[in-house]
This record gives sequence, structure tokens and C-alpha cells, in this order.
Amino acid sequence: MSVEPMVFSAQSRLLPPLILFGLTFALTLGGILARPIESLSLFWPVNAVLAGVLLRHPRQGSILGVALMYVAMVSADLICGSEWRPALWFNLCNVGAIVTFWRLLAHLPRSHRRLRTPHGVLRVFAACAAGAVVAASLACVMAAPWFDQSLRATWLAWFSEQFSTSVLVLPIMLTAPSLPALVRSGGLPVRLAPLLVLLASLVLSIVFGGPGAIAFPISALLWCALSYSPFMLSLLSLTAGSTLIVAVAQNLMHFSVPQSEPGVTALMSARLGIAMLVLGPLVVACVSNANRALLSRLAHQATIDHLTGALTRSAFARQANALLEGRQQHAQALPLTLMMLDIDYFKAINDRHGHAVGDYVLRQCARALQDQLHDGELFARLGGEEFVIVIPGLAPEQAAFTAERLRRAVQDLQMVQGEVPLRITVSIGVSGCNDSQPIADLDALLADADQALYRAKAHGRNRVEQAQRQVI
Ligand code: GH3
Ligand code: MG
Ligand code: MG
Repeated sequence: MSVEPMVFSAQSRLLPPLILFGLTFALTLGGILARPIESLSLFWPVNAVLAGVLLRHPRQGSILGVALMYVAMVSADLICGSEWRPALWFNLCNVGAIVTFWRLLAHLPRSHRRLRTPHGVLRVFAACAAGAVVAASLACVMAAPWFDQSLRATWLAWFSEQFSTSVLVLPIMLTAPSLPALVRSGGLPVRLAPLLVLLASLVLSIVFGGPGAIAFPISALLWCALSYSPFMLSLLSLTAGSTLIVAVAQNLMHFSVPQSEPGVTALMSARLGIAMLVLGPLVVACVSNANRALLSRLAHQATIDHLTGALTRSAFARQANALLEGRQQHAQALPLTLMMLDIDYFKAINDRHGHAVGDYVLRQCARALQDQLHDGELFARLGGEEFVIVIPGLAPEQAAFTAERLRRAVQDLQMVQGEVPLRITVSIGVSGCNDSQPIADLDALLADADQALYRAKAHGRNRVEQAQRQVI
């Protein structure tokens, strides 16, 4: 037995935990090193990011994975000069938050977890609140000796920071598209107006100041929610939310709340308010995204035949009529050819090999025909094993060569069923109109082609027949 596969499988089992360890270590180190920068010390996004990683890569989530994360966090803390006891306790609070976010969301259906439904948004908010409660409570129980403020102030400080940060960061992790999907979608959106209005409203919040000013960006965020994807909106919410939090912390917005006791600050109140602020736009983004997806699915289903990828009958009628109307706009009407194609003895394939093989043959036949066509030519499935092709610019009397090419493309199609080769042929009826016929009616063209197709069948199949009504 070769040794190599064992080495590879051991490697592939070791790699994910090692990556998880390295990622946690790097994120914690980054978080700690950013602390001296005053505005960055207001956020501890590591917990939400790591919970997001576990939720996006469920196979990495295990007790061992969490234990590795804890060791990585403590190691990073110790390397940065922390004492070992606070390092152990504080990171236990962080792990408490991560595990709570993760476990409360891991069992949700994927559509909720990826924030494709408003319910998903509410569940994520609830999980963020629960994770923040766990972190704050653990901090009060275990890390209290290292704080020089009351337990209530400690609890509120942890809760407000973890809640607001996770509400701003976790949706980004949950909605982020994979790299191939991002490339496929063509990158970030180009509509700039909602983004510019959001930036203007943030500036206005800070210039105007006062407690009410934290709500100023809400309308701009709602516009962004209607314009962008949930992922893009999450990024913008993070930008808006963190800007406001920093502005409040720096007292740029000039407001304070009456302090029932020292340590309970305007910042805590503002953080909670800002976290709540982004809930509405996020729900709107999910609903509008789900609507957009549904509409585009419906439009696709109404236009494209699911089995063959050809146009549906109704989409064909719309597009062919538009072509026929368009040709009349020209001083000299453009010629146009319509072909009706029907697979020969197709029922026998279904009877002999079963319906699934019949479907496979239909798909292959449609693909072979489509490969022969150019942009601007219409290809539709009229029903069953019957297709129609419209070629603008080609007069029917000159279509024999093209029709022959299509017939041969199907005849040459090499398919196998088990060991047995499968061959099919098509019969084709050709109709159309040339530049001497400015008015053409789709139903008449279809009827002409159908008659020609009937003759092709009657004359032995696997052949092309021209409609007799044509002026040649
Ligand atoms: P002809 O040469 O005269 O055209 O004979 P034929 O057997 O092709 O013609 P017929 O119209 O009798 O048979 C068409 C068959 O196509 C009957 C139907 O079961 C089958 N069919 C229609 N739609 C589908 C489909 O979506 N999938 C499969 N597998 N079969 C289909
Ligand atoms: Mg047939
Ligand atoms: Mg038929």
C-alpha cells in the first residue's frame, strides 16, 4: 500500500484546525495592537468574525476548534505582555460570546443564517444580544477584579460593546459572497446616489450633533437597503455605525445622558441605539433582495424552458413578433426565415430507454442546435420534441444550406445509453418572408412551416422541406 495518500489525508485533517488557530491568533493580535489607537479600541470585532467563520464553515466547528481558538487568543494576549490570569479570564468571556453566537445560529435553516429572510435578521439580532449578555455576565463573574468600576457599569460596557459590534460585523460575515460569486456578479454595485446620500447624512449627524442626530442616517440606509444587496448594506451599516460610535466617543456630537452612576456613559447608550438603528434597513434589504430574486426567477421561468434552455413558447411569441414588427420599420423589409423542427420517432426513445433518457436526448439535441446559431437568432421549444428557429436577415429561399447544416448537426450527435449508441434525426419545415413581403404574420409563418414539416415527415423524415406558399 502506498504511504502517500495517508500523508495527504493526515495533512488535510490537520490543515483546517491549523488555519483556525492561525486566523484566531492573527485576529486577536491585530485587535490587541489596534487598541492603543483610540477609536479602534472602541471595537472588539474578533468574536463576531470568528463566530462568522464557524457559521460559514460548519465542518470546522467543534469543541476542539473552539479550544484551539481559546489557546490562540490566550497565546496572542500573553505575547503582547498580558498577565496569564487576566488573559485566561478575559478570553473565556470572548469564547463565551463566540460559542453563543455560533450555537444559536448554527441550527437555523441556511436561508435564515445567510440573512435571506427577515426572520433570519431578527434571529441574528437575538443571537448578538444573547452573546453579548453571556460575555458581559462572564466578565462580571470572572474578570471583575481587573475593573475599577461597579459591576453594573462593567456589565453595560461589555454588553453595549459586544452587542453593537456583533450587530455591525456578523451580518457582513453571514452575507459575504464567495469570491467566485463576487467575480460572477461583476463586483460592487455602480449606483452611487444612495451611498453619497448616506455619507452626507453622516456628515450632517456629526455637524448637527445632539442625541437625535444618531438617527439622521436612517433614511439614507433605507434607500441603500432598497438599492444594494444585504452584504453591501451590512458593509455600509458597519461604516455608518462605527463612524457614529467614534463620533460619540470623541464627543464630536455633543451629547450626554444623565449618569445614574459614574461609568455609565453616553457612549453605551449611543452604541445600543446605533445597533438598533441598523435593524430596520437590514430587514428591508433582505425583503427587497428576496423580492428581486423571486421576480428574476419568475421572469427566467417564464422565458427559458427549464429542460432545454431554449426560449419558452410565450417568450418566443413575444420576441418573434417584435422582430416581425421591427422589420417593417425599414424602408425595405428585412428577409426572415422560420424553421420548425421535430425529432423523428422520439416516442420510440422514451418507450425503449425511459423518460429520463428521453429528457437527456432532448437536452443534447437542443444544445447541438443552439451551437449552430448566432446572436440575434431565436431558438425556442414549442412543446414536447418540437423546436422553432427564427433567423432574421436570411431569406427562406436561401435557407436550404442552413437548414441542412442544422439537420446534419443533429444526425451527427453522438450519444450513448449504457454501452448502446443513441442516434436521432430531425425533420425540418422552412417558411419565412423576403423583402417583397413587408407584412408577415407569425401564426401564418408557423402554419406554413408546420405544413412543410408535415411533408418532410411524410416523405420519409430526416429531411428539409420548404413551405410551398413561398415566393421564390
Ligand atoms: P414523429 O417522427 O412522427 O415525430 O414521431 P414521434 O414519436 O417523435 O412523435 P410523437 O408526437 O408521437 O411523440 C412525441 C413524444 O414526445 C411523445 C411524448 O411522450 C414525448 N415527450 C413530450 N415531451 C417530453 C418531455 O419533456 N420529455 C420526454 N422524455 N418526452 C417527451
Ligand atoms: Mg417527433
Ligand atoms: Mg412532435
